Amino acid sequence: MTKYAQLKQTAYDANMQLPGLGLLLFTFGNVSAVDRDLGVFAIKPSGIPYKELTPDKMVVVDFKGKTIEGSLRPSSDSLTHAVLYKEWNSVGAIVHTHSTCATAWAQSLRDIPIYGTTHADHLTCDIPCAPPMEDDMIEGYYEYETGYQIINYMKWKDLKYEEVEMMLVGNHGPFTWGKTPEKAVYNSAVLEELARMAFMTEQLRPGVSRLKNSLIRKHYERKHGPGSYYGQI
Ligand SMILES: [Zn+2]
Repeated sequence: MTKYAQLKQTAYDANMQLPGLGLLLFTFGNVSAVDRDLGVFAIKPSGIPYKELTPDKMVVVDFKGKTIEGSLRPSSDSLTHAVLYKEWNSVGAIVHTHSTCATAWAQSLRDIPIYGTTHADHLTCDIPCAPPMEDDMIEGYYEYETGYQIINYMKWKDLKYEEVEMMLVGNHGPFTWGKTPEKAVYNSAVLEELARMAFMTEQLRPGVSRLKNSLIRKHYERKHGPGSYYGQI
């Protein structure tokens, strides 16, 4: 047992939620969980099938992407996670998948429009899709630059990471985050469902309008506003 045992267990538990939620095939996808006091995060090892994962196999990495504990190589996306943790102080966990519907929107280079109250229950804007990365970013430090693509696009859209906890990276797929691993995984499942609903909505009614502002405000604020009244006290 080391001081990282609890963090590795937490990251393992979060990773193991993904297959059951239908968010991935084979080894696609990864979840990490951070310990701010220790300055490290635990992440899935690269290329290991989920059924072979154990808490012990999780890899502990610092914010520069250096492995601190673990005999396996960390997920190839580790540097993306490291950059996001370094820049965004209150993020506790990050999830990346290639879930089908969210990835289809990313491949189409489209924001996911807000069409209904399910979407408004979670966020008041379209789910942003960052443009594909420039060639020099792809040919340089690709995973590191992917993190900056996410951060810079959030800034450019004037979005706060504490409020909008999901994004698509164009041509690639979805990234979500949250204060806790549970919330980051939840966001990943919600994003996939919103992507599926928006896709079906456009199929059923091409040219359909976005949700009107009064409904966006109502649904968001009853769950998140100062006078929220959704759920039990
Ligand atoms: Zn990926």
